[in-house]
Amino acid sequence: MARKVAGPEIERVIQLLARLPGLGPRSARKAGLALIKKRTELLEPLAKALQEAAERIVTCSVCGNLDTQSPCSICSDARRDETLIVVVEEIGDLWALERAGVVQGRYHILGGHLSPLDGIGPERLNIGTLIERARPPVKEVLLALSSTVEGQSTVHFLREQLLPSGVAVSVLARGVPVGGELDYLDDGTLSAAIKSRRLL
Ligand SMILES: [Zn+2]
Repeated sequence: MARKVAGPEIERVIQLLARLPGLGPRSARKAGLALIKKRTELLEPLAKALQEAAERIVTCSVCGNLDTQSPCSICSDARRDETLIVVVEEIGDLWALERAGVVQGRYHILGGHLSPLDGIGPERLNIGTLIERARPPVKEVLLALSSTVEGQSTVHFLREQLLPSGVAVSVLARGVPVGGELDYLDDGTLSAAIKSRRLL
């Protein structure tokens, strides 16, 4: 067994850091060391920020986004185009689209995609509230889902569900590679995909 180099509190910090995506045990030790060396400039403000965020994060009752207010900052922004809803699988996709600055409308977070093999049916996704939102002033629902098989079968399912509402349903067009997940696309590609969307 590896010898412990630090007390249990520090080991605990490193173990938790190692559970973050993109951080393995080695990077977690590095990050942990940086934190304990910079106790006042980094560790304490980070601990405080994490505590405050943990206490205040709520799920937006409108779109399913996570924020410290509900409705979220995007849903309550009156400058946004209320006629367009952009449906994404995950919050990371919303962040990617916001980074690219290409969406003027509002969002709807599905919370994943249909995946019968993993037991993920429509009831596990945030679909009911989407159908409720698909009415005036909303004119268009853009399904900005991954170009994976599951993403595309989710597109077809949602299209059927949205059909009776009468709102226009569109999908991302060129630029999204087959099998591509939005979060990994560069801003230019995302921008092209949104601008050249096509109606279903
Ligand atoms: Zn929202």
